[in-house]
Amino acid sequence: MNRDEAERKRLLAEFAKCRSCRFCVDVCPTYQASCGVESFSGYGRMQIIKYLLTGLLEFDDALTYCLYSCLQCRRCEVVCKSKGQNLDICDLIQRGRRLLSGRLARGGRHAKL
Ligand code: SF4
Ligand code: SF4
Repeated sequence: MNRDEAERKRLLAEFAKCRSCRFCVDVCPTYQASCGVESFSGYGRMQIIKYLLTGLLEFDDALTYCLYSCLQCRRCEVVCKSKGQNLDICDLIQRGRRLLSGRLARGGRHAKL
């Protein structure tokens, strides 16, 4: 298994810990600025990365904007941890960006990991 595939599996294992409680959604400033578009929240961004990594979504400009508009402010993460789920949301988003950016750089949106 190459390094990217190992990282992909680690990220998917982390995303699987999310209970979809959505407590992290309302507190996100970009969600608030978007007037309630869930894709612009910690939960939404993790879902986007998950589906990009599993091939259920393909990159487009809107998804890229969702991922890169995260401010890394950690408000979502504080709420998630206070509810006992303890996901490092900011770190997961950054790692997802890194992995997916590498894929885009290597072969465009249809490139395989
Ligand atoms: S608060 Fe944590 S467990 Fe709940 S939806 Fe957000 S990331 Fe998932
Ligand atoms: S770290 Fe990103 S996803 Fe989390 S609350 Fe801040 S802007 Fe929203």
